[in-house]
Amino acid sequence: MATPAPGPKDASPITAALNRAVLDALPFGDTQDFDDARRGLLAASPEVEIRNAQGRVVWTLRDYAFLADERAPATVNPSLWRQARLNLHHGLFQVTDRIYQIRGFDISNMTLIESDHGVIVVDPLISTEVARAGFELYTQHRGRRRIVAVIYSHSHTDHYGGVRGVVGDDDVSAGRVEIWAPDRFMQEVVTENVLAGTAMVRRALFQFGATLPRGPRGQVDAGLGKVTSRGTVTLIPPTRIVTQPIETHRIDGIEIVFQLTPETEAPAEMHMFHPGLRALNLAENATHNLHNIYPIRGAQARDANAWAKYLNEALDRFGRDADVAFAQHHWPVWGNGRVREFLGQQRDLYKYLHDQTVRLMNHGYKSAEIAERLALPRSLGGTWHVRGYYGTLSHNAKSVYQRYIGWYDANPANLNPLPPVERGRKYVEYMGGADAAIRRAREDFARGEYRFVAEAMSHVVFADPANTEARELGADALEQLGYAAESATWRNAYLLGALELRQGVPGTIARAPVSPDVVRAMSLDLFFDYLGVRINAEKADGLRIVVNWVFSDLDRCYVASLENSALTYLADRRSEGADATVTLERAALNRLVLREVAFADAVERELVRVEGDAGKVARLFGLLDDFALMFEVVEPRREPRTAPGRPGS
Ligand SMILES: [Zn+2]
Repeated sequence: MATPAPGPKDASPITAALNRAVLDALPFGDTQDFDDARRGLLAASPEVEIRNAQGRVVWTLRDYAFLADERAPATVNPSLWRQARLNLHHGLFQVTDRIYQIRGFDISNMTLIESDHGVIVVDPLISTEVARAGFELYTQHRGRRRIVAVIYSHSHTDHYGGVRGVVGDDDVSAGRVEIWAPDRFMQEVVTENVLAGTAMVRRALFQFGATLPRGPRGQVDAGLGKVTSRGTVTLIPPTRIVTQPIETHRIDGIEIVFQLTPETEAPAEMHMFHPGLRALNLAENATHNLHNIYPIRGAQARDANAWAKYLNEALDRFGRDADVAFAQHHWPVWGNGRVREFLGQQRDLYKYLHDQTVRLMNHGYKSAEIAERLALPRSLGGTWHVRGYYGTLSHNAKSVYQRYIGWYDANPANLNPLPPVERGRKYVEYMGGADAAIRRAREDFARGEYRFVAEAMSHVVFADPANTEARELGADALEQLGYAAESATWRNAYLLGALELRQGVPGTIARAPVSPDVVRAMSLDLFFDYLGVRINAEKADGLRIVVNWVFSDLDRCYVASLENSALTYLADRRSEGADATVTLERAALNRLVLREVAFADAVERELVRVEGDAGKVARLFGLLDDFALMFEVVEPRREPRTAPGRPGS
C-alpha cells in the first residue's frame, strides 16, 4: 500500500469494558498458581536470551518485561494477562526428590530425573541452542551428570527438536544413551512435518504469534508458554519404543510406569508414573489450560473422548499414589488431594466438551451453533486450569463435530458455495457496493459488532484487495477481537491478521524450514507421497512416465508411475517397460529432498545414475511445484504465485 499503514490502536471503550468485566467474573484472588509456578526455584538466568552460532537470538524473555505490571492494560484480556505472567516464570525448578524442570527456556519444559549414575532427560525442547542452555543451567546447580536416557513424551517438535543440544549420535549408537518414545512416534513425527508442512508452518505463525511484535498491543503469550524458540531443530530416532498400554521399566534405578495415550493431544503420546518418587508426568494431556482438539495451525482433529479416557485411567491407576503431577508445559500441582482434583477436572473438561458437542449435534445443531452455545459447566467456570488460553471451547467443539461428521453442516446452501473472491464480489454487490458496506460497518464497529465487521470487511477485501479503507476497518475489528480474547492463540491470530491487512504479507522467509534429521527419517513410501503432492497436475496433463528407483545401499526398489496427473508407486516392484531406471543411495535421496543438490547436478556428479530415457526423468522433476511459505491468508492468493519447478529443483 502506498501510505504507511497505521500501527496498533488502543482498546475501544467497548473492549476496555469487556476486559474490565473479566476482573469481576473470575477469582483473581486465588493466587495458588503463582505459588506453584515459583515453588522449587533453584536458579534463573537473569536474562534468558539465547543465540545460535551465528549470533541470531533464538529465544529471549527480555521482550516480555512489560508483563511485570500486575494489572492488565485495556488491550489485553486480564485472564490471559494472568496466564502470560505465570508463563514468564523461568529457570531451574525442583519438582520433588530427584525430579527437576527447566521452564521458560522454550514453550515447553525439559524435565530432568536424577538416576543412580546420571540423569534422564524428558523432552529436550524445540531447538538445540535452548536445550543446551537449559541443561547447562541444570549442570551449574546440580553438578555434571551423564545423560543416561532421553525420553520423548510425544511426537510434537517442542518435545524432541533440541535433542542434539544434549546428546550426540555417538552416545546413542554406542548404547551409552537410550532414547525412549511412545509407539508410532517416528511415523507421526515425519508425516506431520512433511506432507502438510508448508501450510502448517505458515498457519502456525497465526497460532503462536512468533513474528508479531511483543507488547500490550502485540503478542503477550501463546497460552501453553511464551512462544516457540527459533533455533536448530533436530531429531535422533528412538532406540526403545513403548508398545504396550502399560509398561514398567527401570532406567538406571528409576522405576517408570509408561501409560500409552494414543490419539490424545498427539497421535503418539504417553504418561509416565514414578512410583518410587510418587510423581506423575502427564506429558501434555493435562496442563494449565484447555488444550486443543484441533490447533488452529491446522491438524487432524484429535479424539477428545480418548483424551478423557486416558486421563481417567491415569487417575484411577496412579492417582492414589501421586503427591505431585506435572507436565511438559506449565507448572506442577502438589499434594495428593489437589493432584486428584486437578486430574478429575481436566478429565471432565474433555469429556464434557466431547459429549455435549455430540449431544447437540444429534439434536441437529450445526457446528457454529454448538460453538456459540457451549460454555463451561458452572462448577468449572472459576477453575483457572480449564480455561481456554490455548484451545477454546468454541473451536474445539467445531473440531469434535468435524471428527465425527466432517466440515459439511448438511444445509445444501452450504454444499457448494462460491469461493472467497467470487463470494466477496457478490456480497459487496448485494450490500450496495463497497462504500455502502464500509459505511454500515463503521456504524457496527461503533456498536462493538467486531465479529461481523471483520467478516463483512473480509468480503470487501476479497472482492478488492486494494480497498485500503476496508483493509483498515477489517484490521481494526480484528484487533479489538484480539484485545478481548482470553485465548492466546486467538489473540495471536487476530493480531497477525490485522497486521497483514495493514502491511500486506511480509516476503521474508522463502520456504518452510525442514529439519535434515526429519528428512533422513522419512520412509521411502513417504518420499514418493511427498513427490506426489508436488506434482503440478496441469503440467502433467497427458504425460505418462514410469521410473524404476533402485536404492542400491538399501536393496530396495520402487516403481513410480505418473499417469492421469497422479503419481502412484509400488514398493519392491520393478517395471520391465519403465522409461528409465534411477539408481542412487539413500544419502543422495536425502540431499535431493533437502535441495543440497539439484537432480541434474546429482546425475553429473554421479550421485545418481540414470539408465534409459534420462529426458523423461528430468521431465518428471520439472513437474514438481515448490511451495512458497508466505502465502496470502487474509486476502486473495495472488496467482500465479508458485514458480514452476525447474528440472532438478
Ligand atoms: Zn508441547
